[in-house]
Amino acid sequence: MITLTFLGTSSMLPTKERNHSSLLIQYQNEGIMIDCGEGVQRQLKIAEISSCKITKLLITHFHGDHVLGIPGLLQSLVANDYQRTLQIYGPKGTKEYIKHMFKGIIFKEFRRLKYNITELNSAKVFYKDKNFSLKCANVNHAIPTLMYSFIENDKLKINLDYLKRFGLKMHPLLGKLQHGKDIIYNGKKIKSDKATIKKPGKKITLITDSAPSPTLAKFAKDSDLLICESTWSSHMEHLVEKRKHLTSRHAAEIAKKSHSKKLILTHFSQRYKSLDEMLKEAKAVFKNTELARDFMKIEI
Ligand SMILES: [Zn+2]
Ligand SMILES: [Zn+2]
Repeated sequence: MITLTFLGTSSMLPTKERNHSSLLIQYQNEGIMIDCGEGVQRQLKIAEISSCKITKLLITHFHGDHVLGIPGLLQSLVANDYQRTLQIYGPKGTKEYIKHMFKGIIFKEFRRLKYNITELNSAKVFYKDKNFSLKCANVNHAIPTLMYSFIENDKLKINLDYLKRFGLKMHPLLGKLQHGKDIIYNGKKIKSDKATIKKPGKKITLITDSAPSPTLAKFAKDSDLLICESTWSSHMEHLVEKRKHLTSRHAAEIAKKSHSKKLILTHFSQRYKSLDEMLKEAKAVFKNTELARDFMKIEI
């Protein structure tokens, strides 16, 4: 089970209802935060999630609405006696920007925090373990910016019905089958591909702060969940190339072209009192669309 919590869904200016951008993906022992807008410490408190659950911080880019919460988050990790090594990933320049954040605040205990920073500047899988991988690619924004995918590994589930014919139920050998290995039981060969059922892993993609580009749908290909910026509705279309943002219609087109299963719109401009028009516009292109709101939780 993958749990997503939206900790901020506004764009440049927060509103009474919407904080600056941040999303938390929780999976097994991992807490993967993508972007850390201002106020994240308090958003986590309200969502009743301990900051110590965060294992990885993925930064899309260093515009304030995506990173102003980092010094506060790091300070709260130290205050909460964070025992892990925080893995920070971000675009080119991340090491320099984080260094300045540490320097800009008087809090000598920062030195107690263990962390690693990895700068990413091309499309690649930058993390992989036996359960999932993380992938990034560049987007076209005013400054170096990344989009990210969380990709759960496919799993093999034991087909107990099939194993009945061999009289095999609970047995340590089942683990081998689940790892794709054939086994011999009572002198009979049991093939893993027959004795297991493939459960495809889930893919979650987050795209924010980008001009429209065909690369976006390619990156999001076959996402179970696409979370995409929808800074404006189509009446601001004339600004997308200049300001390098997406409208709700663009987001829906990316969802459609990428064959994603579900679309959640986020990163809304504070100019809108109601987002009904945006939702309508997106749904006209891609039906399974929803609007994000702060503290919305999704399990997939
Ligand atoms: Zn932004
Ligand atoms: Zn930006």
